[in-house]
Amino acid sequence: MEDIRTITVLGGGVGNARFLLGLRDHLAAASDPATVNAIINVGDDMWLAGLRITPDLDTVMYALAGVNDVQRGWGRVGDTERVSAELQAWGVGWPWFTLGDLDLGAHITRTALLREGLPLSAIVERMTERWPIGVRMLPVSDDEVETHVVTAEGEMHFQEWWTRHRAALEPTAFVSHGLESAQPAPGVLEAIEAADVILLAPSNPIVSLDPVLSIPGVRDAVLRASAPVVGVSPIIGGAVVRGMADQCLTAVGVETSALAVARYLGSRRDGGLLDGWLVDDVDAAAIAPLESEGISTVAVPLWFRDGPTSIAIARAALAVARGRMSPDGTTLGR
Ligand code: GDP
Ligand code: CA
Repeated sequence: MEDIRTITVLGGGVGNARFLLGLRDHLAAASDPATVNAIINVGDDMWLAGLRITPDLDTVMYALAGVNDVQRGWGRVGDTERVSAELQAWGVGWPWFTLGDLDLGAHITRTALLREGLPLSAIVERMTERWPIGVRMLPVSDDEVETHVVTAEGEMHFQEWWTRHRAALEPTAFVSHGLESAQPAPGVLEAIEAADVILLAPSNPIVSLDPVLSIPGVRDAVLRASAPVVGVSPIIGGAVVRGMADQCLTAVGVETSALAVARYLGSRRDGGLLDGWLVDDVDAAAIAPLESEGISTVAVPLWFRDGPTSIAIARAALAVARGRMSPDGTTLGR
């Protein structure tokens, strides 16, 4: 794997975590594994009951540490909710937003360190030292940039729309508060510039990838990078595997399909992001049109059903990237 020393992945929570697990385990088989930087969305972060909550960062951290609740899909395995019940009794926080007790330990730690003046990126570095997670996690920004959803009932934090209303209110727009003055966290632009391969995780294109890419300087860094950029479709057979990406895509006028999401991200050849794209076998019909638009497209099973399939997805993404790498370090077909 000497040709690929540094891999930088951009993404959100669950889809990103599943992809990173496969990538890490694929690389672990090499004698001298490549370094993985994971640049993670902070748009879902919020203040609740005086604590800073960072859902996507925690989802990735817990999954890579192997302490996540796979059944429930969020939080720590074996967690209890005694503190949340007390908070409800006190009328503090959001009654519809449960935080596990072990999870609250992480939120208290993070908030205590923020109060001491540490930036989020330094806190993530420190908290991830607890486990050998095998990936360097970077919040995309140390600044507070929160995604809000505009609906006919008014504007609300993304978490309220998703967790309280189960995405039942039709979104008309997504806005990032604090975006204009936000800066990439230390190491983010460097991780993009230094990468031999850049991968876009199968994350929600609208509320996970867009908030990462729209932090000032990040999209430009990816567009300028010499590394090939390969994305993995979060859409399989015209449907989301889980989550609400379909509502999000519809709100911004993008069809829920592997083809439409690739076009939304755009071909590198035409000023977009993608040199390559992975679709599921059921979406093989997207290959011909995307190839003609300059995006190297390969179909493999994209459902993260177990360890071996996840590893195969990572291997396929790197193979597509390799196909666009020339010996002189430039990317082919631009
Ligand atoms: P979130 O921040 O927790 O919502 O997680 P992400 O934005 O990283 O990922 C959410 C997306 O992951 C959803 O839109 C799903 O379409 C996608 N996803 C979840 N499971 C799978 C899977 O097994 N395969 C693929 N290809 N995508 C998946
Ligand atoms: Ca998220």
